[in-house]
Amino acid sequence: MFDMILRNGIVVDPLDGARPADLAISNGVIAAILQPGSEAASRRQIDVSGKYLFPGIIEPHTHIGFLNDFDADVTSESASAAIGGVTTVFSFHRHYKSAEPKPYDDLPELIGAIDAGAHVDMALHLGMLTEDQTGEIEKYIDQGVSSFKFYMAYRGEDGKTVGMINDIDDGVMFDAFTTLGRFDHAVACVHCENTEIIGRRVRAAKAAGRADLAAWNAARPSFAEAEHVRRAGYFAEEAGCNLYYVHIGAQKSVDEAILQKARYDRITIETCPHYLTLTETSALGPMAKVNPPVRAQADQDRIWETVLSGEIETIGTDHCAMPRTRKAGDIWQASPGFPGMATMLPVMLHHGHHKRGMGLQEIAKALSYNAAKAFNLLPRKGALQVGFDADIAVVDLEMEQTVTPEALGSSADFSLQEGEVLKGWPVMTLLRGKLVAEGGRVVGSAGDGAYLAR
Ligand SMILES: [Zn+2]
Repeated sequence: MFDMILRNGIVVDPLDGARPADLAISNGVIAAILQPGSEAASRRQIDVSGKYLFPGIIEPHTHIGFLNDFDADVTSESASAAIGGVTTVFSFHRHYKSAEPKPYDDLPELIGAIDAGAHVDMALHLGMLTEDQTGEIEKYIDQGVSSFKFYMAYRGEDGKTVGMINDIDDGVMFDAFTTLGRFDHAVACVHCENTEIIGRRVRAAKAAGRADLAAWNAARPSFAEAEHVRRAGYFAEEAGCNLYYVHIGAQKSVDEAILQKARYDRITIETCPHYLTLTETSALGPMAKVNPPVRAQADQDRIWETVLSGEIETIGTDHCAMPRTRKAGDIWQASPGFPGMATMLPVMLHHGHHKRGMGLQEIAKALSYNAAKAFNLLPRKGALQVGFDADIAVVDLEMEQTVTPEALGSSADFSLQEGEVLKGWPVMTLLRGKLVAEGGRVVGSAGDGAYLAR
């Protein structure tokens, strides 16, 4: 007797592909993948005829608590995750509010806030901003955090433009990479952008009177990202640590990352939905301001090509909940960043599967399995295999829906996809066998989710 059987759906597994099956759940994990119409008994059954069962989406890149209180953001944004079929959320945490970043002595409180308030499971990456913080990497690893973010951008003056103190230079970063290299499962995540080049370009673009979205791209050119991709890759190889390139959205930087990966295979490359859907000429203007910038059409074409080829392995949204008012003004005044978590799966189904023929198995890999692999969540998350957590996004591939921010459940009151009709939506989300969202509404409770020690 199983706890639950999802009957008559099409199981989309990243390893075994898509096939009709009944999926049985017991004790929060996948207990069996059965022939469709199996006689097996269960306490509860849900008919998912005609629907596709994806492994719960793993969102590797968000900023929870960036503008709002951490506890409140955990609850509101994880609710948005559940609506979007996302069952695991990674947040890049850093001490934003202290003038002088201190070591993460508050990690137990952060974990407590997640356990108490999250609608889906959550894990943390820790931002490394000072040498003192890098000195405690082994302690953080003991507390279940095994991924760390290094900002090659935002050093010195550039950091102050986003209210950030960043005392990490190449020397401190390399020593930290060496520490990480002692752990098979630890990962260095790197934001690649050459601050020294950008600082001068920003001043030049402002002096020339430019203030549009394309000026943001011109001020933070892709070669300055590609140069750091090369440098970080070289350091990681020398130090022997795992490396994860966050938010790669340009031809030059992805090509450099692919070259580094050919030399040294412990590298994962991430891109974001906005690089796949927007360019510097977008009518969204400052609304689409983000670091690194959205690029030119040739960049977008190359990013799609490398997502479809599997060379880019993961998709993260860089989700940051903020009000529309922060995007007001010209390109220099608007805040960088935007929400995106709840639209990630529909965007990839619409623009990837329906418009470009991206296979469903490949979507399951890029949106779930590959992130689980990169961040040490196998064999628990990322696949619809027996023994894995029963985290499932039930998808209606044919459903067409116009994006409205209110329907996405985030505290953010805007969406880059606002007004766009997307085809392919999650209609049910299960977290460890429990229904947490259905029909675009949260049906679970704050506290259903848990902190994931890795
Ligand atoms: Zn980010």
